[in-house]
Amino acid sequence: MSFNTDKLIVFSAPSGSGKTTIVRHLLEQTDLPLAFSISATTRAPRGTEKDGEDYYFLSPEAFKSKIEKGEFLEYEEVYPGLFYGTLASEVKRLWNEKKAVLFDIDVMGGMSIKKSFPAETLTVFIQPPSIKTLEKRLRSRNTDTEETLQIRLSKAQQELDQAQTFDEIVINDDLATALSQTEELVRSFLAK
Ligand code: 5GP
Repeated sequence: MSFNTDKLIVFSAPSGSGKTTIVRHLLEQTDLPLAFSISATTRAPRGTEKDGEDYYFLSPEAFKSKIEKGEFLEYEEVYPGLFYGTLASEVKRLWNEKKAVLFDIDVMGGMSIKKSFPAETLTVFIQPPSIKTLEKRLRSRNTDTEETLQIRLSKAQQELDQAQTFDEIVINDDLATALSQTEELVRSFLAK
């Protein structure tokens, strides 16, 4: 099977929807020519996160300077005071490696990418079965303070309201099913 790598695949989902697990699963399929778009962010690294692997961690000043120089394909203030964005250089780097690019970005960012590259982009929304399930997952993950959790839940509700604007919606009720559905979507989108 040959694949078209001049493509962009955007995954958006409220945090706690299992999006990271799904994206990781796709990247493990070694026959698929996929690479992950490393975003820039002004938030601090969490746990074992590494600069240049999980994110490009930038100071607010460095981030602002890149905005002014027009270096972002898109950027958003995803949470109050915290900026995240996709650098044009990142997509260029991965396309040069003959890889289709996977994004894990918020709903607004996903729409901006689609607008810039309508013919090349597939947008996929990963939907949790319900906001209650999402709250349970976030609580059991236990990495957030109550305040952060409330902020994440309120953003999740806003994002769920926009799911219909995506090309595809995958409901992550049963993880194995969601993984195979997503893999199928990606395979047929990349198939030449
Ligand atoms: P976290 O802080 O949990 O790593 O990410 C928070 C949110 O930021 C996630 O919903 C993620 O999808 C979003 N995000 C990560 N990178 C980008 C980016 O480059 N652009 C946009 N618009 N959102 C991003």
